Amino acid sequence: MPGEGPADAEVMLIGEAPGYHEDQQGRPFVGPAGRFLTELLARAGLRREEVFITNVVKCRPPNNRDPAPIEIRTCTSTWLEKQIEIINPRVVITLGRYSTALFLPNQSITKVHGQPHQVNGRVIIPMFHPAAALHQERFKEPLIKDFERLPQILAEVRRQSPAAGPEPRQLSFF
Ligand code: URA
Repeated sequence: MPGEGPADAEVMLIGEAPGYHEDQQGRPFVGPAGRFLTELLARAGLRREEVFITNVVKCRPPNNRDPAPIEIRTCTSTWLEKQIEIINPRVVITLGRYSTALFLPNQSITKVHGQPHQVNGRVIIPMFHPAAALHQERFKEPLIKDFERLPQILAEVRRQSPAAGPEPRQLSFF
């Protein structure tokens, strides 16, 4: 399941891995977490169709287990790095700890969520995973607040680089 969205999206969102519904439909974030994500995007004034949505791992891990390190490494080097290079988004929102760890290793998402970080010339904004917020109330409010602050961050990023996003470059994730 590669993901979906415009090839020139300004914003890319990276989740963890397809779940049952995503696996069935071949589209990212189409189950309950996906419906919540669509709502969160609307709070930021964004439509689903204008952002690129994908995952770290491209196949559903059996029984919804956590993705294994070898699966993360393989999918990242085979697919995700190239997707980022080609789409060249100005802003990457990492949803949950797996995608956050690719860009901000050793950082706790609880501490850094919602804050923009410059990584390899690109703006990375770590956020809690929408599924985590659906299951645990304490993540919900901060996740909503982070999305509500997104327009401000996007405006600032556009002000700082009005013409285009960063140059494509090789990301060194590991
Ligand atoms: N959770 C994810 O991380 N990705 C999806 O596509 C759906 C649920």
